[in-house]
Amino acid sequence: MKELSGKVALVTGASRGIGAVTARRLADGGAAVVLTYARSADRARAVAKEIEADGGRALAVQSDLTGPTAAVDAVEWTVRELSRLDILVNNAGFLTYGPLQEVPVEELDRVLAVDVRSVFLAAQAAARHMSDGGRIISIGSCFNGRVPGSNFVLQAMAKSALIGLTKGLARELGPRGITATVVDPGPIDTDMNPADGDSADFQRGLTALGHFGQAQDIAAAVAYLAGPGGRYITGTSLAVDGGYTT
Ligand code: NDP
Repeated sequence: MKELSGKVALVTGASRGIGAVTARRLADGGAAVVLTYARSADRARAVAKEIEADGGRALAVQSDLTGPTAAVDAVEWTVRELSRLDILVNNAGFLTYGPLQEVPVEELDRVLAVDVRSVFLAAQAAARHMSDGGRIISIGSCFNGRVPGSNFVLQAMAKSALIGLTKGLARELGPRGITATVVDPGPIDTDMNPADGDSADFQRGLTALGHFGQAQDIAAAVAYLAGPGGRYITGTSLAVDGGYTT
C-alpha cells in the first residue's frame, strides 16, 4: 500500500509548473488529487489525464483565486466530489514586480487576494472538513529569507504573511494532529521563472549550488511533509532554494 493511499489532496494552481508536478507526485504516492487552474483548462485536464493514465485518480476544476469565494468553493467542491480532504497544498501564485512608487492599489489587492486571502480562506474551509492528521502546506518563496534587490516588495510582503498564518494555523489545529507548513522555493525553472530568462544568471549567482531547481525538488518536499514523515513538523518553513538564503 502506498503511503498516501486513501488520502485526498487539493493542489491549487496545478495546471503547470510546481503545482502540476506536485499533484503528480502526490498521486504517485497514492492520493486522489484535485487540481485547480485559473485559465489553463486544457493543461490542467492534461495533467489530470496523465495521472489517471498512470492508474491514479485526478479531477481538474477552475478556480480563479482573485475572486473572494473561489478558495472556499474549491475546498467544498473537493469534499463533495471525493468525500474528504486530507492534504491542502496552497501553491497558486503569479509573479509581480516593480518599483514601490509604481505599484497600483489594484495590484496590491490582487497579490493579497491570491497569495494571502485565498490561503487563509482555503485553510479555514479545509479545517472544517479535515480529519485528524491532515496537512496544510503552502508554497512561499525564498524572498521570505532574503530579498536580493528592489522591485519585489509586494511578493516579499505577501509570501512573508504565510509564515505568520502558518504558525497561527499550527497552534489552532495542532490539537487535532493537523500540521501547517510552508515550503520556500528558490529559483525554480517554470513558466514563471525560466532558467533561460533575463535575470536567470543573476539568480543562479545568488544560490550556493549555482543552478536553478526543478519543480520536482519542491514536489519532493511537499510529498515528504504530506506523508508520515511530516507528522511532527508544524508551524515552520522549509527552504528548498539551493542555498539562496544562506
Ligand atoms: P507557474 O506560473 O508555472 O504556475 C502558476 C500556477 O498558478 C498556474 O497553475 C496558474 O494557473 C495558477 N494561478 C496563477 N494565477 C492564479 C489565480 N489568480 N488564481 C488561481 N490560480 C492561479 O508558477 P510556479 O509553478 O513557478 O509557481 C508556483 C508557486 O511557487 C507560486 O506560489 C510561486 O509564487 C512560488 N514560487 C515560485 C518560484 C519560482 O522560481 N518558480 C520561486 C518562489 C516561489 P493558470 O495556468 O490557469 O494560469
